[in-house]
Amino acid sequence: MHYENRNPPEGINTSDHSPVREFLRLSLSALVVLIAVGIFLNFSGSLLGGLLPFKAELWITERVDRIMQQAEQESPFADPVGQGSDSASVDPLEQYLQSMTDKVVAALELPEPIVITLHYRDDDVFNAYATLGGHVYLFKGLLKHLPNENALAMLMAHEYSHVGQRHPASSIGGGITMAAGSSLLLGAAAFENRFFSIASALASTRFSRSMETDADEAALAAVNSIYGHVNGADDLFELFTGIRDDNQLDFLDSFFSTHPLDDNRIQRIEEQAAANGWLATGAITPLPAQFLQWLN
Ligand SMILES: [Zn+2]
Repeated sequence: MHYENRNPPEGINTSDHSPVREFLRLSLSALVVLIAVGIFLNFSGSLLGGLLPFKAELWITERVDRIMQQAEQESPFADPVGQGSDSASVDPLEQYLQSMTDKVVAALELPEPIVITLHYRDDDVFNAYATLGGHVYLFKGLLKHLPNENALAMLMAHEYSHVGQRHPASSIGGGITMAAGSSLLLGAAAFENRFFSIASALASTRFSRSMETDADEAALAAVNSIYGHVNGADDLFELFTGIRDDNQLDFLDSFFSTHPLDDNRIQRIEEQAAANGWLATGAITPLPAQFLQWLN
């Protein structure tokens, strides 16, 4: 047996690879994997979102509502129309909006578990939108421009049929699965944090053009069944055109700018009315005389 105190070979502490390059390569691979997982979750989420039962939507919005209230933040789902604390002195505007909602919901024949929870926002924003759990928001800035009740019915029917056709769930489904995915990676605290960003993202729900067209079609049928004609429904889109022409485009929420072009929509509903033999003329129903006062 021969022992020797051999020197270590030269160069074992230096590598012919650059450690910086190695680090960059690994980080890049990790990033690519994360992005791929994100895209997958987002894509499968929008597919699954539409398949989610409506009760699951309700569960999510109730949970967001509870978390936000516990955190003493303003919940987007608080204070719906017609559910004030003092039912004896119900606001006349809320009463009117609720009675219109009842008519429109009946005309749309929304399937059983689906409920519409309407919120009126006293903000001068030209907007209206539908989101998860049947929550629909109408803003003063849009309502004050409505020329008649027929246009209001068309607006409501459009938003409510987004809910009936489960568009918010498909659209937000991606965000929900992304949140669930990030909670797996980053822990439950990240999930709770994501809830707040989801709550704010609910307001910026974007629907595809085909969803908008489907909502317009269902809405026009509802307007016809309420009034016996579709006169006045297109006033809603004329209004959008007017607002755009007045160069108030930056005043419009992105929600409206993703809608199909107003002229196309008007043409399409005219064709739909003709194809179904619906009357394009008929008495216009005015809004209540005090409607503008109620808004202010
Ligand atoms: Zn829409």
